[in-house]
Amino acid sequence: MKHKLAMIFTGGTIAMKIDPDLHAAIPALNADEILGMIKNVRDLTDLEIINFSNLPSPHITPDIMMELYKKTKELSENESITGIIITHGTDTLEETAYLLDLLLDTPKPVIIVGAMRNFSELGYDGSSNLAAAICTALSPKSRDKGVLVVMNNEVNAASQVTKTNTLSLDTFKSPEFGPLGIVDNDEVIYYRNMPDRQRIQTDKIEKKVALIKAVPGLGSDIFSFYIQSGYKGIVIEGLGRGNVPPQMISGIKQAIIASIPVVLVSRCNTGRVLYTYGYEGGGKHLRDMGVIFGGNLPGQKARIKLMLLLGMTNDMDKIRELFETTI
Ligand code: ASP
Repeated sequence: MKHKLAMIFTGGTIAMKIDPDLHAAIPALNADEILGMIKNVRDLTDLEIINFSNLPSPHITPDIMMELYKKTKELSENESITGIIITHGTDTLEETAYLLDLLLDTPKPVIIVGAMRNFSELGYDGSSNLAAAICTALSPKSRDKGVLVVMNNEVNAASQVTKTNTLSLDTFKSPEFGPLGIVDNDEVIYYRNMPDRQRIQTDKIEKKVALIKAVPGLGSDIFSFYIQSGYKGIVIEGLGRGNVPPQMISGIKQAIIASIPVVLVSRCNTGRVLYTYGYEGGGKHLRDMGVIFGGNLPGQKARIKLMLLLGMTNDMDKIRELFETTI
């Protein structure tokens, strides 16, 4: 008996062509046109196609991510479906993938896939990426691994992967941990297991969460703006091990006094933040002020996590615990 996969099409370069007037890529392909490029797909699997949207991924909002979560959850609860594949633009793919990974509670494979070259370019990679995603979703070895990102024949965990290059086909990397596995000769081969995952139980997302990148001499005005504008959480991409310029301190204090959780991660590509330095603006100073340490997440993922945690609770201690507990 053939297995059935659900395929949710959301858009991105995988569904784009060059517009002859604009000389630039825009959404153009529908699900049938994309699937038509994989020659034996319907021999391999039955498909349930969901034309969710045809959006470039910079147009994907937190609300749309939550709609996608609800749809994916509903499909994962359908007994006839073995796994779910989601096509997505690569620019914000890691954020959608991480959001789904934090929320979904299913052993079924959930795979996110995109393309770096549009259909008008030589070497369109949409069909090979989608074929690899299908092989991954059909493998029983892909169960219980959380949400997976399959691109360029590599399988990466949503919680670990990031887009590392603006044009390379090999852009999705887990710089800290390496890939979970590869797709070779239509078979998925896992090199390592997924560590325990963190889950957040909520169907709400707090959208007013800001991300601030620390740079030398950055002051506190930006904090006053966010506090006055009703922001409910702030993520700082700090310097190095988790330090900020002293000029940012008064803004951070104001936010914490206003009960706004301030989460610190690093603008470095890899490594955890820690309270190593005791000078003004150093990690120890920030910790003593009540800043929450966000481990080795990049800023954009820490923001997604804080948005979901604030959807679940206003309890600062709970938010701290869920950021600072290493799993
Ligand atoms: N800008 C495109 C998008 O994210 C890039 C891509 O899909 O590769 O929609």
